[in-house]
Amino acid sequence: MANTNLLEVSHVRRTFPRGQGEELLVLDDVNLTLKQGEIVGLLGRSGSGKSTLLRLIAGLSKPQGGNLSYMGAPIEGPAQGVAMVFQGFALFPWLSVLENVQLGLEALGLPQKEIRARALAAIDLIGLDGYESAYPRELSGGMRQRVGFARAVVVHPNILLMDEPFSALDVLTAENLRTDLIELWGNGKLPIKGIILVTHNIEEAVLMCDRVLLFSSNPGRVSSEIKIDLPQPRDRTSPQFEHYVDQIYVEMTARRVERLREQQARANAGIEMPLVHVSPNQIAGLIEALAAAPYDGKADLPDIAYEQELEVDELFPVAEAMQLLRLAEIEGGDIRLTHMGKRFADADLNERKEIFSRALIGNVPLATHIRRVLDERASHSAPKTRFLDELEDHMAEDAAEDSLKTVVSWARFGELFSYDDDAALFSLENPT
Ligand code: ADP
Ligand code: MG
Repeated sequence: MANTNLLEVSHVRRTFPRGQGEELLVLDDVNLTLKQGEIVGLLGRSGSGKSTLLRLIAGLSKPQGGNLSYMGAPIEGPAQGVAMVFQGFALFPWLSVLENVQLGLEALGLPQKEIRARALAAIDLIGLDGYESAYPRELSGGMRQRVGFARAVVVHPNILLMDEPFSALDVLTAENLRTDLIELWGNGKLPIKGIILVTHNIEEAVLMCDRVLLFSSNPGRVSSEIKIDLPQPRDRTSPQFEHYVDQIYVEMTARRVERLREQQARANAGIEMPLVHVSPNQIAGLIEALAAAPYDGKADLPDIAYEQELEVDELFPVAEAMQLLRLAEIEGGDIRLTHMGKRFADADLNERKEIFSRALIGNVPLATHIRRVLDERASHSAPKTRFLDELEDHMAEDAAEDSLKTVVSWARFGELFSYDDDAALFSLENPT
């Protein structure tokens, strides 16, 4: 068995029904393995299908295609020896800490005495000693998540699945839990053979994982793998650590830039693409930060994310919107203001509106189209449904809604057209 992978996922495909016989393809051709002694990270933006994949691995749902196997046998329902830790802790509020932890064992049909002994040992191990009789409401977020860990660890799982386990915690608590976990793992004290950690935080992945799998979206799939060749415990401030963080940023941006190019090519061919919701304020904020010292118009994405206290999931959509509007260019791990972007930074509010309006007309076909329709109609107005129906020929219903919402907020700032939400009516009322 020594050479058998703990887990093998091959060519896995998962769709969800979307009404009217349509399907949403969430995972396509997903491949990964987990070997004994490994912590493998799954890093991807929210909505990319990471939780869906974990549910498949845990045997809580079934794929439409491909195979999953656990210690050499196909996964056909919840497997014993696979335990999960959730972002939202998922504790039972009416049970004490001890009872919550014991619950993990009840299903195994062990004698009551052993259940209790093992639960107490897990509580001790995870640093919850003294809290056995407390209820979840009496605990801080960090202590609650420790209960979540204890409940998973108590079954001595072969595989521990963690779904963004630190993301509901404040920064210091999260770091405290991460380092405790890594220390227990390094000492061989955790009764666990392998861990899969789902995260959208690059630094967390580099801090904890032996291998990081980059997960792309639409559909979700593993697009590349980075081996983190650093001894534990790792030093966040070491040049090698920063090198890995940079490398992952660059790979993630490269894929996104490529996708954006494809999108722009399709947009130029007259095909509507979904617009991710980013407000003009967010765009203006990032432009201002970029234009100011020490960046002078050009920044390393990790640096500016850190300085702006933004996570990768929050920074990329803003950077992408700026690239779409040709106010900035993303290249490798850098973002650079264009000539227009620099002018925007220096301009007063009215000039900014003008620059923004021109950027919309030049680069966002949906904005141009709506404006043209409104110009041509005698009433200078058109119902929302007119554009929604058109968009839905090219994208899902919620993407169409999001795109309209985005274009409305951009058009308002650029005073290109206006929109009355109560009447669901686009019009040229009060544009310049
Ligand atoms: P992540 O964990 O990466 O944020 P999820 O796996 O939660 O992503 O979701 C991926 C996509 O699958 C989302 O678009 C979500 O709406 C969709 N999805 C997840 N579960 C279901 C479900 N049970 N029914 C329909 N759609 C779902
Ligand atoms: Mg998730």
